Amino acid sequence: MDSFIKEKLRAIMRRTERAVFFGGAGVSTESGIPDFRSENGLYRQKYAYPPEQILSHTFFMEHTAEFFRFYRDKMLCLTAQPNAAHIKLAEWEKEGSLSAVITQNIDGLHQKAGSKKVLELHGSIWRNHCVRCGKFYSAQTIQESDGVPLCECGGIIKPDVVLYEEPLEREVIAESISELKAADTLIVGGTSLTVYPAAGLIDYFGGKNIVVINRGAPAGNIRGALYVDGSIGEILERL
Ligand code: NAD
Repeated sequence: MDSFIKEKLRAIMRRTERAVFFGGAGVSTESGIPDFRSENGLYRQKYAYPPEQILSHTFFMEHTAEFFRFYRDKMLCLTAQPNAAHIKLAEWEKEGSLSAVITQNIDGLHQKAGSKKVLELHGSIWRNHCVRCGKFYSAQTIQESDGVPLCECGGIIKPDVVLYEEPLEREVIAESISELKAADTLIVGGTSLTVYPAAGLIDYFGGKNIVVINRGAPAGNIRGALYVDGSIGEILERL
C-alpha cells in the first residue's frame, strides 16, 4: 500500500463514526483457508465436479456422500485461527467505530477473533442439524463421522451452510440491510462480489465513504470507492 493511499484510508477511518465491514473468502486466506477464485483457490483445483455444483442443494440431495467428502476435506477448517484482519475488525467493534461484520464466510473466524455482531449470510460450519428431527450437532461430529453423518433418529445431519439454490435467511438479510443503511463508512474486503444475492446487499449502503480492500480487482466497480489492492490482513494491521 503506498503512503498516499494509506493516508487517505487513515483519514476516512478517523472521521468514521459507524463503519460496517462486508467481506468474503479472501478475508480468511491469510488464515490458511483457500478462497474460490484466487490463483490457489478451489476453482483452480481439480475435482470430479466443479465446486459450485458440489455445493448446491441438488448435489447435496443426489450425491450426499460425495458432498460430505468434499465438505470435510475443503470446507471444515476447524483448527484455522483468525488473522490480523479478523483481529482488527474485532478491535474496531470493541472501540465503537464498527457496528457489524457482514460476511459471506462460513468459517466462524470473526467470532473466534472476538467480533460480536457477525451477520453470516451463508451460515456456518459450526452449526449442524438433523434434517428430520432438528437435533443440533457440533462441527467435530461431522468431521469425525464417515460417509453421510446420521442422527440418532436416522436423519441426515446437514450443516447450516447456505448451498447454491438455497435462499438466504430473511432475518440476516434484514439486519444486514439496516446496518448498511445506518453506516457512514462501508469497508468491502476479500470478495469477488460475484455471488448473489449476497453481493447485491452493498447497494443498500447509504453513507459517504466506501473502501474496497482486495487482492486484484473485485468484480464490482463501485463508484466513488477508494480501492486498495493488497492483502487485507497486512493492510488492516498497519492502520
Ligand atoms: P471469492 O473466492 O470469489 O473471491 C475472493 C476474493 O478475495 C478474490 O478477489 C481474491 O483475489 C481476494 N483475496 C484473496 N485473498 C485475499 C487477501 N488475503 N486479501 C485481500 N483479498 C484477497 O470469494 P467470495 O467473494 O467470498 O465468494 C465465494 C463464496 O465462497 C462465498 O459465498 C463464501 O461463502 C464461500 N467460501 C467461504 C470460505 C470461508 O468461509 N473461508 C472459503 C471459500 C469459499
